[in-house]
Amino acid sequence: MSLKDANYDIIVIGAGSGGLSVSLFMHKAGFKVLLIDRSDQQIGGDCLNDGCVPSKALIHISRIVHEARKAGQFGMSIEGSLDARRVMEYVVNSQNIIREHENATYFRNDGLAVALGEASLTGVNEVKVNERLYRAKAIVIATGSRPVKLKIPGIELVKYYDNESIFHIDHLPKKLLVIGGGPIGVEIGQAFQRLGSSVVIVHRGKHILKKDPVKITNVLKRQMEKEGVTILLQSEVKRFVSSTLAEIEIDGKITEMSFDAIFVAIGRKSDVGPLTLQNGNIKVNDGQIVVDEFLRTTNKNIYVCGDVAGSLKFSHAAEHQARIILNNLFSPLKKKLNNDYLSWVTFTDPEVASFGLNEQEIRKRKISYELLETGFEDDDRAVVDSHRYSQLTLYVSKKNLLFKQRILGGSMVAPRAGELVQELILANTNRLSINTLFNKIYPYPVAARINQKIIVDYKAKGLTNGIKKLLRMAFNIFN
Ligand SMILES: Cc1cc2nc3c(=O)[nH]c(=O)nc-3n(C[C@H](O)[C@H](O)[C@H](O)COP(=O)(O)OP(=O)(O)OC[C@H]3O[C@@H](n4cnc5c(N)ncnc54)[C@H](O)[C@@H]3O)c2cc1C
Repeated sequence: MSLKDANYDIIVIGAGSGGLSVSLFMHKAGFKVLLIDRSDQQIGGDCLNDGCVPSKALIHISRIVHEARKAGQFGMSIEGSLDARRVMEYVVNSQNIIREHENATYFRNDGLAVALGEASLTGVNEVKVNERLYRAKAIVIATGSRPVKLKIPGIELVKYYDNESIFHIDHLPKKLLVIGGGPIGVEIGQAFQRLGSSVVIVHRGKHILKKDPVKITNVLKRQMEKEGVTILLQSEVKRFVSSTLAEIEIDGKITEMSFDAIFVAIGRKSDVGPLTLQNGNIKVNDGQIVVDEFLRTTNKNIYVCGDVAGSLKFSHAAEHQARIILNNLFSPLKKKLNNDYLSWVTFTDPEVASFGLNEQEIRKRKISYELLETGFEDDDRAVVDSHRYSQLTLYVSKKNLLFKQRILGGSMVAPRAGELVQELILANTNRLSINTLFNKIYPYPVAARINQKIIVDYKAKGLTNGIKKLLRMAFNIFN
């Protein structure tokens, strides 16, 4: 390989959500790009291979099974048991469809250079893959994260699953012990319960999904419990006594619990181990790359993007960071990472969707706000679709003569909440007035009418006696 072949405008390490966003744009824009991942099978990163895609495919199947069982209340009985092999086949097929346009051959045919192998830094602008050296003006580290390993006594006795192995499981465990009540734990836990396992979620915290408001997550907890999931809060697996028996501390008391399989979802850690970052003058603090607000490392020509940046760990957060890096590669006006308008969805049923600023952050910033809450109990669509339990919380800025009243953030728990909040996210991101929702004409009975109801109810509270008197006068004059 000549020196010319080894010189690139930009090298991107990691072909996941973040790395693909940066490299594909730079390639389309005519730059000489080298994209690196460990193997062809790992292109697409966690999202395609061990995360979003397989989990959402599994959730899709579990929803079908659950809905089919619910038909029992109308006299239709469902018989038979699930074939775990076919369930996983569906998951793999879904991944394969996406892999058709996310693989090394596809990218190379399009003219994008791809190197497969473990990358490490050998200099401030130099990367090594399979003993070959590559150089570039700019480097982006988008190496993602790995599941945190469970380290407790007796762990060597059990075979446990995490997100890197659960989607290869070839049977449905009778009793699945899920450790961790974050988004991954509750999504996978509910899916397996619906597929036929008996699921117990052991969670250290006071409530599941710690990034979302407790009032909202409690609704999900109740619904999951109704389906048979056991959720143990402020609890911890202390030790494994055997390959099928654990000691769990619940309310300060140790209880023994048997299980057939364990799924561990206790957090995710940046994947920087093999990168030899010191060669690139990149500082690392406690396993985390030191990053400035422009997503640059201590080597200003090397950026970080996605999970490895240590901010919010979502595919769309990685894409958001990719856009910031792309801006900063081309402009003297550097953009800072700002998560004020970020949103996230936990794809359980009901889904939990949050966006914008949470109440704690609004208070911290001393923004005057009003808390708007509504249940769905009187919403016609929720009545016919049987989800009167759903809830919506919004934070809106206080009425003010100078500024329009706008949505600062909020959360919803409802079936398909991730879709329902999209117009709220649009209003939040674009700092639209709450009147845009008030004035919108919604077809009856779309579920999104709840987004208008909460504003209408709020405005109705503003009908003071003085305003009522004025209305009475106007009515008498004009009629
Ligand atoms: C079970 C599960 C469900 C999830 N569901 C969702 C969801 O519904 N929505 C959502 O937004 N997010 C979800 N996520 C999170 C999402 O998957 C991640 O946030 C996203 O994949 C991060 O993208 P990334 O580009 O930072 O890293 P990744 O997608 O992990 O990509 C990193 C890539 O870098 C490669 N790599 C690492 N080190 C090296 C090296 N030294 N040399 C070469 N290559 C290297 C890896 O092989 C990998 O392909 C989920 C995660 C999990 C685990």
